[in-house]
Amino acid sequence: MSLLVVGSLALDTIETPFGKAERAVGGSATYISLSASYFIQPVRLVGVVGSDFPKEEIEFLKEKEIDLEGLQVKEDEKTFFWHGKYDFDLNNRESLATELNVFANFDPIIPDSFKKSTFLCLGNINPELQLKVLKQMDNPRLVIGDTMNFWIEGKYDALIEVLKHIDILIINDSEAREISQQANLFKAAKKIQEMGPKTLIIKKGEHGALLFKEEELFIAPAYPLESIYDPTGAGDSFAGGFIGYLAKTEDLSYENMKRAVIYGSTIASFTVESFSIDRIRDLSALEIKDRFNEFKRLSDFSSI
Ligand code: AMP
Repeated sequence: MSLLVVGSLALDTIETPFGKAERAVGGSATYISLSASYFIQPVRLVGVVGSDFPKEEIEFLKEKEIDLEGLQVKEDEKTFFWHGKYDFDLNNRESLATELNVFANFDPIIPDSFKKSTFLCLGNINPELQLKVLKQMDNPRLVIGDTMNFWIEGKYDALIEVLKHIDILIINDSEAREISQQANLFKAAKKIQEMGPKTLIIKKGEHGALLFKEEELFIAPAYPLESIYDPTGAGDSFAGGFIGYLAKTEDLSYENMKRAVIYGSTIASFTVESFSIDRIRDLSALEIKDRFNEFKRLSDFSSI
């Protein structure tokens, strides 16, 4: 089983009510591949950075067995930059700046050795680039996709085209409402399923996540954390944990997807405990397992 992740690698400036990080490492592909690496290695990555992306972070990703053959490094150009600010209610965030920089002219070239990857994760990037990636792939078994408001508003038609090729879409509640133009999340899910992805996960931040697989519905809680410092990357870490576990087990049944949702929630719960990727740089198998079991304990009850 092989997993290819395509998405952004970024320098993020983040403001939350609990602190600030400047030009810290982020990006959808960074969070997804790092999170997935706790389940399957190597994780293949395709993306682009400028010469300002810290060399030691590239080395760090390599140490995590992330295969960077598809990473383009553009000398004398700047890495994608995002500035986000969160409310006291951490489910609300505002994008203060999105500078595409190297992503403005990015041509995602999939190395020949990556084209037969069985699992493809299209992280949050321009949907036109997601389409270019899909065209180069040799019949992946499973395509998982993500997007965000920036692209729903800016590249809606391309996004609708991408959706036709996606098996599992992972988005948050406001994005689901925006794509479907439906206020009610259950109606939104049905409408999005008609647009392509038969399986859909709607994340609701600190209120957990909903898994819709055809007619089935699974409701997962979020881990009750008292100290959340930075929600950035929670969604991508969720996607990485989810797809990493599916790729490891090679089992796409509904029962196994429920476990994958909990693994996704588990990794996301670590990510938000610190700024940038700091908390998920070095997770142990034991802490992942313990928190997974804690999820089970929190939502388990006996039948009458
Ligand atoms: P998440 O919090 O999981 O939704 O993802 C946060 C990450 O998405 C940050 O590290 C940003 O660098 C990245 N990001 C923000 N805006 C965009 C965008 N328009 N395209 C691609 N990546 C983005």
